[in-house]
Amino acid sequence: LIYLDNSASTRPHPECLEAYTKAASDYYANPASLHQAGGASEKLLEKARTRVMNLLGVKQGTIVFTSGATEANNHVFTGTSENRTRPGHAILTAVEHPSVKEAAAKLERKGWELTWIYPDDQGRIRPEDVEDEVTGKTALVSVMHVNNETGTIHPVEEIGKRLRRYPGVRFHVDGVQGIGKVPLSLEEAGIDYYSLSAHKMHGLKQSGILYVRSPETLAPLLHGGAQEKGLRAGTADPAAAAAFARALRMAKEEEEKKRRHLRGMMIQLEAELEKDDSCRLHRSPERAPHILSLSVPGRKPETVVHAMAEEGIILSTTSACSSKHSDRSAVLDAWGLPPSWSASSLRISLSTENTQKDIETFLHAWKRVIPSLAVSG
Ligand code: PMP
Repeated sequence: LIYLDNSASTRPHPECLEAYTKAASDYYANPASLHQAGGASEKLLEKARTRVMNLLGVKQGTIVFTSGATEANNHVFTGTSENRTRPGHAILTAVEHPSVKEAAAKLERKGWELTWIYPDDQGRIRPEDVEDEVTGKTALVSVMHVNNETGTIHPVEEIGKRLRRYPGVRFHVDGVQGIGKVPLSLEEAGIDYYSLSAHKMHGLKQSGILYVRSPETLAPLLHGGAQEKGLRAGTADPAAAAAFARALRMAKEEEEKKRRHLRGMMIQLEAELEKDDSCRLHRSPERAPHILSLSVPGRKPETVVHAMAEEGIILSTTSACSSKHSDRSAVLDAWGLPPSWSASSLRISLSTENTQKDIETFLHAWKRVIPSLAVSG
């Protein structure tokens, strides 16, 4: 099997699985319990928290361990709104992940005002467009670091620098697809909230974090006990935290070497597909090395996915989170591309576990499979 759907999920690394099973069997006591065993669980949990802070290079604030980035993204929006007495204004891009867009839509139903920033036809978001929309009512700006369908890198550092001029505005970055792939300094970018997901970096599913720079700015999403510094009720899972810290450490290890490996595969992929008249590549000038978005106009993307799967090659239509709802790419629609392109889009996403040989095998199969599929319309 050649797995090229790593932006949907990655294979858990044996080291993460081991970190999980070892911690889960040795530290099963409730970290909130007073006894010694509880204390040992708490120690492991806090060690993981500190490790994550260090790996992210942040000194101030805290890490909330969550059930994934969907929860983290929801927490930012709901937690901001519940921390305020009156509805405010939020700015976000039109290409955010559904967990950001829908969490924002919920606030709109509660009287918040939303401003959507659209990219140009190459996916570019202009920092000045974001700044121009800031008003006295603006409470939150949310811009993802790397887009999950197209790999576009958004200028979050520049946006964060501009937002420093507005002390009442908090800045959230969904870092899920960027971590380990594109360098980012949270401190320099002035990021207040940052979401990550373990299963996109060879960790486990239902595990993520929300970094919160000033905990007093956010109400909890889940109410109950005072776990996670009062930001998330419910018994914490020290094993999940330890496995998350391990996944993050591996994602940050030898980052440049891994990027070179990914870039090498991507260059080969792009160069070959560029010559192919049956497809169209959607590339932003600033893009991550692991995601390629393309369209096969006139062909059904799900037919391509199934036909390639028959060859043992796994890729995806748009993104896993939206592929069951719509057969069009909301991201490519936001770029303003023709409907025939957004309705026939595919995504190839690599991990460092892929090899040059995988790419060759993929290209071989592609050249055989695509011409054999009927063209409609
Ligand atoms: N944000 C982005 C950019 C994503 O790609 C994903 C995963 N599809 C998420 C958030 C949600 O992450 P999780 O699966 O951990 O809920």
